[in-house]
Amino acid sequence: MKDVLKRLDGQRKTMVKDLAELVAVPSISPGGKHQRDIDRSAKVTCAQMKRAGLKNVSVLRTSNSNPFAYGEWTGAPGKPTLLLYAHHDVQPENDPVDWDSPPFEPTERDSAQGPRLYARGAADDKGQVFFHLLGLDAHLAATGRTSPAVNLKLVVEGEEESGSPHFAELLRAHRDELACDVVVVSDTGMWSRDAPTVCVGMRGMTDCQVDLRGPSGDVHSGSFGGAIPNPLTELARLLGRRTGELHLALADAPDDPAFAPETFTPFARRSFYQSLRNTGVRGFDLLRAQEARLDESAREDAARVLALNP
Ligand SMILES: [Zn+2]
Repeated sequence: MKDVLKRLDGQRKTMVKDLAELVAVPSISPGGKHQRDIDRSAKVTCAQMKRAGLKNVSVLRTSNSNPFAYGEWTGAPGKPTLLLYAHHDVQPENDPVDWDSPPFEPTERDSAQGPRLYARGAADDKGQVFFHLLGLDAHLAATGRTSPAVNLKLVVEGEEESGSPHFAELLRAHRDELACDVVVVSDTGMWSRDAPTVCVGMRGMTDCQVDLRGPSGDVHSGSFGGAIPNPLTELARLLGRRTGELHLALADAPDDPAFAPETFTPFARRSFYQSLRNTGVRGFDLLRAQEARLDESAREDAARVLALNP
């Protein structure tokens, strides 16, 4: 890992330039007004994949989907195949007043943790696409290999921010081409600047209808309450059970130094505190215990969350 990081440090200037090229494209997918820009960001993504050495680089489409950029490097027979997922479309810029620099003019600014590149899509998700390519380059340079140690496939979607309406169709249409042993979704964040992060679980959304059937007629609570399950109570119990385990896992996690909030990026820190808030009493106790170790801005964030303690 040290050799990989050294290689990346040495290439900082070129890296920032290449990333800036990608995030300068306003590939906004919601609203459907930026189709040409989305085509262009797919092209730029493909060009960068080619430069990184990926083979069979192409733009995949299905029916009238936005373009998916695809590339692979499968020169390791017998080794596992890793499919990396990311997306090259972005959210709209919304109100320009909220931006300290124009959203599609990548701008470097200093922060408490060092210089950062600001632009729409830098953190979600073009930066991640780009880091995969950098990681590949550094892996080859640091090991002296001429092809990666595992088989790689990289799918970069162009409509994630619009709810991926054609993704299932694309997966079905390219089933064999995209076959793999492991999928790594890199539409996630980093805990801190210095800690390479692999996210092993995320919350998601589901849309469904749950029907619970109870007695067909009224049953008097004084006579039957407790003995006959009440559909509303059972539904609440059922829904409540779906979230409990993660709260406990999160409240236990911060004993690990990798979870020390003072090392988090401001975004990760806010999300973390918000999660602690949701864990209830244990989360608050934990936050209070950590408060003394935090720097000033982290303490402010923590105080804001603690003020919400019921
Ligand atoms: Zn994303």
